[in-house]
Amino acid sequence: MQSECYPRPKGDNGLGVHADANVGNPKWQEDLALIERMGLKWVKVMTYHNSAKPFVEALLDRGIFPVVRMWRDKPNPGVLGAEDREAVRMFAAMGVKYFETTNEPNLACEWHGGMPHTIEECARIAAENWVQDANFILDLGAVPIYPAMAPTTTHNHSTAYPTFDMLGLGFQHIGPGPFEDGAVIGVHNYAFNHPFDAYSDADPCWWPSWRRIGDLAEAIFGFRVGVICTEGGFAQGQADGTYPYMGAYEMAWNYANAFKAMEHEDPYLLAVMPWLLRDTTGRHDKKAVWANVPEIVDRVAAVPRFERRLVCDEIGRTWDSPNHSSRNGAKPRWIVLHDTEGSLAATYQWFMKPDSVSAHVVVDKDGTAYRVVADDRVAWHCGWSLLPGYNYCDGKGAPPTPNANLVTLGVEIVADAYPTPAVYSDAQIEAVRQVVSNWMARYNIPLEHVVCHKDIDAYNRRSDPRNWDHGRLVSHNSLADEALNRIKEIIAGYGL
Ligand SMILES: [Zn+2]
Repeated sequence: MQSECYPRPKGDNGLGVHADANVGNPKWQEDLALIERMGLKWVKVMTYHNSAKPFVEALLDRGIFPVVRMWRDKPNPGVLGAEDREAVRMFAAMGVKYFETTNEPNLACEWHGGMPHTIEECARIAAENWVQDANFILDLGAVPIYPAMAPTTTHNHSTAYPTFDMLGLGFQHIGPGPFEDGAVIGVHNYAFNHPFDAYSDADPCWWPSWRRIGDLAEAIFGFRVGVICTEGGFAQGQADGTYPYMGAYEMAWNYANAFKAMEHEDPYLLAVMPWLLRDTTGRHDKKAVWANVPEIVDRVAAVPRFERRLVCDEIGRTWDSPNHSSRNGAKPRWIVLHDTEGSLAATYQWFMKPDSVSAHVVVDKDGTAYRVVADDRVAWHCGWSLLPGYNYCDGKGAPPTPNANLVTLGVEIVADAYPTPAVYSDAQIEAVRQVVSNWMARYNIPLEHVVCHKDIDAYNRRSDPRNWDHGRLVSHNSLADEALNRIKEIIAGYGL
């Protein structure tokens, strides 16, 4: 799944917090006031069956995404019971998109009847249990969260299996299935006394520990999976000696900076919901509870407001052409329209043949779009061009400049071969408009940079797209407005 396409709240900033450590959140009205003051869009909510319903309802009313953990005491081994399932159905019908069904299965204290004696057994049982719940949640159109592991530290190593090993074994055991269907991975990114931007690959106790977990999943599954931090954070009264102990001021400073950095984090990191806004159980370290530390709430509330404008343009059908190469760090700056001069089937044969040609997207006559090459790779659709700085070779002995393909995105529109007139259907033009407006929005490409192959070909040998009325694409509704509307539409599509 393309990272930009997971459900997100309107005006998403990826920022959140873990609300009350207690189920049902008895002080939820006070929590809500703090959450709104800080401009958070994601809130981790603990519920026992449906006990958090009023809080969840209030969050949804305000356009905030509740991430609901179906709390059970010592949930491993085991799956959701009948009453849990009933509550999940109710929450999903209300509009909740994300569910956690268990917790930290690498910890002995999260197992009843004792933790399995080997890590392999522990990882296998926890992963198999989760798959059952995950399929139930996916069938409701919601997103199951693969159980986050506790970060193993010097404090718990005798009662915990190592974080990354547990995840790797579980992933290998169940394979990519639920993640291909849209599941995400939970992360508990506890940084304790480590600064927000410090990181080491070997140790799980860092704020950016999602990086290693994201990379681990990609190495095993072969694609990027969304990760979501449902606990985590600074201080909590533990220190490992590498950095000094954090006081309230340092905690607040680290949260403010970690939250600011979220604006530019990779889209596969969906949200951060650190521990802990409030604790009506009274069982947890009071120094880490935001409601007790005004510095944290004040500093987070003062973070300048931003929106992560992530554009989802996932195209469900893919061909995976072998004909692509590296952009060498260049970014797409132009969009080039072509027509295929042949049927969809003929285009498929041609584009899948190694060392021939390709484009990023092909749009069939019925408006179906096929993803052929990923945007971040070069597709082979332009030859010598008139694009400034990218004419490849001027034919007069000057050294070749970079190929136009480095900075372009190509869309092929299926049309019959010459001499049959090229005719484009309304559905096809609408689909091209959608692909182009997504690209304009995502890569900040101006309307003047949406061009036809025939207009940029250096030798005027190309006549495609033939009979194409460029005005029909770009007029009517200005495509630039379209790009902006498209962003709004996509965000609204995941709204409430
Ligand atoms: Zn062409």
